[in-house]
Amino acid sequence: MDQLTKENRRLRSQLDDLLRRVRENESKLNRVQSLALKLMGASGLAEIVVLLSRDLPRISRLDHVGILLEDITGEVALAIAEADIELRPGQVELNPAGSLPLRSYVGPYDARLHAQRCGGRQDLASLAIIPLRRGEQPLGALVLGSRDPQRYLAGLDTYFLEELAAVTAVCIENALNLRRLRELGLTDSLTGLRNRRYFDEQLPLECARAQREGGVLACLFVDIDHFKMINDAHGHAVGDRVIRDVAQRIARHVRPFDMLARYGGEEFVVLLTRLEFGAVLEVAERIRAAVAGHPVVVDEDRELSVTVSLGAAQCAVVHGVAVESASAGRALVDAADQALLRAKQEGRNRVVIGQSLTTHAGYGVREPGQIYDRFRM
Ligand code: GH3
Ligand code: MG
Ligand code: MG
Repeated sequence: MDQLTKENRRLRSQLDDLLRRVRENESKLNRVQSLALKLMGASGLAEIVVLLSRDLPRISRLDHVGILLEDITGEVALAIAEADIELRPGQVELNPAGSLPLRSYVGPYDARLHAQRCGGRQDLASLAIIPLRRGEQPLGALVLGSRDPQRYLAGLDTYFLEELAAVTAVCIENALNLRRLRELGLTDSLTGLRNRRYFDEQLPLECARAQREGGVLACLFVDIDHFKMINDAHGHAVGDRVIRDVAQRIARHVRPFDMLARYGGEEFVVLLTRLEFGAVLEVAERIRAAVAGHPVVVDEDRELSVTVSLGAAQCAVVHGVAVESASAGRALVDAADQALLRAKQEGRNRVVIGQSLTTHAGYGVREPGQIYDRFRM
């Protein structure tokens, strides 16, 4: 009887233990599922990274959550940079040294082997590395570390983590595909520059930023002169070639953070921030000279002389003067466009200054419509 009671107690305790583990697993499953749902609703790669590093430590008692990602084209780095989030060392590791892990690892943390993939951490005791896959292709890995040596014992069942890695991989792939689609919709295929849609989207945002910072915003319109004649005389393909060449020459004379877009057929627009108007006009003149300076080489025995006309305007955003960003942006673009028209009327291959939109000591003294002549300024 005594024996029976003992056996009964042992079984009871085993059952309690099992039930406790089932409840624990159920609750863990719920939390993993809820994280998976959030990942599926994430708007981009950065949000996926933020969700994993915020929620996983809570679900799984972790001291380190990192994501390794392959980034051959640099688009992952761009996607993360665009989100403007601060990352801890090791939170995202791009193109990790050595190849991506192909199989899961669960076991002790060895700083000599693992620190490189964990932001150099020396204080971890156990580690799980779970590959992220696109079909059979390795995409990256989830790297989860704990200071508790018992947390990831070799041989631990990684079912939940594998499930989470599968969802994460699909979500990352999806986020990158969405970004690619959006990029395609905002990029001009002939020149690789931003297109008008992107420019129109960004214009009020740039205006608002200039207002916040109390800065200035300038706009240049650049239009190829007598382009129709080039098309008519040499054909559309040569015309395309000229558009691409002019685009490259303009791009070489603006800063990487200035917004350069193809506005229409043979017309380009540049938004320049934080630049005194004299310097803006210098940029405009350099663009004019870069196009007129040497001909476009079309093929072995054809070179075409090409010129551009430019209209320049600046919107000086005076501190404390509230201007609605969208209309301020439009007014700036209209002023540059009007100036471009004048440049055409005045004989082309020149820069014309547009109406200044608010009085500003730097350029209010110049008459609108004046032809920019750097030797007279
Ligand atoms: P202006 O000096 O006054 O600017 O004269 P223009 O001939 O350059 O101006 P216009 O606007 O009359 O001609 C622009 C031409 O650009 C008309 C259009 O057929 C051509 N065009 C528009 N998009 C493209 C394109 O993608 N490729 C080529 N090859 N031509 C294009
Ligand atoms: Mg033209
Ligand atoms: Mg035009």
